[in-house]
Amino acid sequence: MSATRVLVLNSGSSSVKYQLLDMRDGSRPAQGLVERIGEQSSRLKHTPLGGEARERTGPIADHDAALKAVADELAKDGLGLDSPELAAIGHRVVHGGKTFTEPTVIDETVLAEIERLIPVAPLHNPANLTGIRTAMALRPDLPQVAVFDTAFHTTMPESAARYAIDVETADAHRVRRYGFHGTSHAYVSRATAQLLGKAPEEVNVIVLHLGNGASASAVRGGRCVDTSMGLTPLEGLVMGTRSGDLDPAVIFHLMRVGKMSTDEIDTLLNKKSGLIGLCGDNDMREIRRRIDEGDEQAKLAFDIYIHRLKKYIGAYYAVLGRVDAIAFTAGVGENAAPVREAAVAGLEELGLLLDPELNAVRADEARLISRANSRVTIAVVPTDEELEIATQTYALAGDN
Ligand code: AMP
Repeated sequence: MSATRVLVLNSGSSSVKYQLLDMRDGSRPAQGLVERIGEQSSRLKHTPLGGEARERTGPIADHDAALKAVADELAKDGLGLDSPELAAIGHRVVHGGKTFTEPTVIDETVLAEIERLIPVAPLHNPANLTGIRTAMALRPDLPQVAVFDTAFHTTMPESAARYAIDVETADAHRVRRYGFHGTSHAYVSRATAQLLGKAPEEVNVIVLHLGNGASASAVRGGRCVDTSMGLTPLEGLVMGTRSGDLDPAVIFHLMRVGKMSTDEIDTLLNKKSGLIGLCGDNDMREIRRRIDEGDEQAKLAFDIYIHRLKKYIGAYYAVLGRVDAIAFTAGVGENAAPVREAAVAGLEELGLLLDPELNAVRADEARLISRANSRVTIAVVPTDEELEIATQTYALAGDN
């Protein structure tokens, strides 16, 4: 029996998301989520293909226990980690710094480097490492591959990747623009080229990944040349709970005049800003509902969100010089027609002509939403980070 399955693991600080994909036919035999690890009320939800979802609640102490619980659930469906059909495990790793430009088979040296990057990703890399170590302990003989959120952006030129601060200070502390959501930007930019019937090398695409976290990227001929997130995911667009761009002096001001601590400001900008800070809601559905009821605060939050988005479209248009397509993806980008409409409204002179009827269609597939005579194609392209991680993992570690 040939090994054609890949288990994709996305380990967060208190959660593990997983999907088992079969690369032979693209099916997903199982997927699930463990939440609130370390609490009394931990929950595991496991959904086998074509079967009923199973839920388990009760304390799951740590990632080790969480992965063992996942392995138990998979085993119940005959999909256990000891299955000869399992080819590899693919791990999402948030920060690969400048070092990791491609997916990488994990060994001790790779683990040490991911660990060395903890200071630039204090929230994410430790959880990713725990997930990897636990999975390696469970199946030491199986290839385990790290797929980095930053890798796709390592092609950015220095002119886009550097902040204009003292070079020695920047280099001493590895301060530069890394970008995130790279797996999604890579997948969506390629899928957009495919939708246009072209090779990725032939097209320039602006990808707008609008989820709870949000980022834009400028992709020239399949290579990222700029992206909106920076040293951390805080920079760039207005997000669900993050401010995105602001004058860095806001921070000094809040420290000096507002007497706020570093941690308080960190929480303010990452967790209490963006849409939730502006209007108390971070779900675009709720914001649209409030706007429909005449809520001014929700309307202002929406307008600020759109204003920033438009600025990035304009900026990346200028960076690319020629744009063939703009692709909307992730929770908001795939589902919120009013956001897409507002984002490109008034950009007709840039060659962007939206078709309102196509934009209103709800579908799960990649689709065009621009008019036939639009110089720039506008598209909705659902992202699939798990498939991308599995594909990259299998290409590197599968027995093909
Ligand atoms: P993601 O981070 O990609 O899972 O996106 C999550 C976000 O997508 C939510 O916070 C919502 O703001 C947004 N979203 C999901 N479904 C819809 C929908 N049907 N209409 C508008 N926004 C949506």
